[in-house]
Amino acid sequence: MPLVSMTEMLKAAKAGKYAVGQFNMNNLEFTKAIIEAAEEEQSPVILGVSEGAAKYMGLEYAVAMAKVAAEQATVPVALHLDHGSSFEVAMKFIRAGFSSVMIDGSHHPFEKNVEITKKVVEAAHAMGVSVEGELGTIGGTEDDISVDEANARLADPKQAIEFYKLTGVDALAIAVGSAHGLYKGIPKLRHDIIEAVSKEIDIPLVLHGGSGIPDDEIKKAIAAGIGKINVNTENQVALTNTIREIFAKDAKVYDPRKYLGPGKEAMKEVIRSKIRLFGSNQKA
Ligand SMILES: [Zn+2]
Repeated sequence: MPLVSMTEMLKAAKAGKYAVGQFNMNNLEFTKAIIEAAEEEQSPVILGVSEGAAKYMGLEYAVAMAKVAAEQATVPVALHLDHGSSFEVAMKFIRAGFSSVMIDGSHHPFEKNVEITKKVVEAAHAMGVSVEGELGTIGGTEDDISVDEANARLADPKQAIEFYKLTGVDALAIAVGSAHGLYKGIPKLRHDIIEAVSKEIDIPLVLHGGSGIPDDEIKKAIAAGIGKINVNTENQVALTNTIREIFAKDAKVYDPRKYLGPGKEAMKEVIRSKIRLFGSNQKA
């Protein structure tokens, strides 16, 4: 089927108390691993593309790959801009064919964040495109955005509820103790913040930095109101570790299909297990 927005899949996730995975695309192998895993698990899925990844793949290449992937799939597939930095960037990605965008105004003061996000919501909704906003500052490193622990700010529940009411976003990322990239210790999530916000709003909350969070913490977060979880780092690690092992065993290998193929399969296994953990399997 053609690409769809996140609206319907996230509404169903909130009602059914499960989460839909956003798995980031970095190249063809990621795209195929994500779609094949979603298809085999009969799960809705969100293809995430950051500005950096779009620059790397080429925006048009990324859209073309996602469109072919969605058309060949029987499950709903959304193509979502991850951490869009401005109104202009969000519009550029929508024009290119994205069915969903995130506008990350979390580094701005609250009023400015509301203003930018609202502007994106108005324009995107007119085109049938869903929008994710962000409140609080999520720590860690993603692309060229880096936030150290001292500057990672947890979301204030009251502000988060107000932010939703003022902007009309379809999904809201709130900082609750997760981080982008690899964790140094075991992350502890603030389930109380998730629950306080979730019970007051109609949309699901989004957990960024979903790689490396223990399974029971993920399950608790979903029960508290998380309906979308972003995963990228674990797939990157699975691909790279597989390639590293192959190179270590055979120094003469040169055919990229001989190492990228197994790398893709390793990512697919990660994605399938995430889909089952999030409970979105058989929900397509
Ligand atoms: Zn993120």
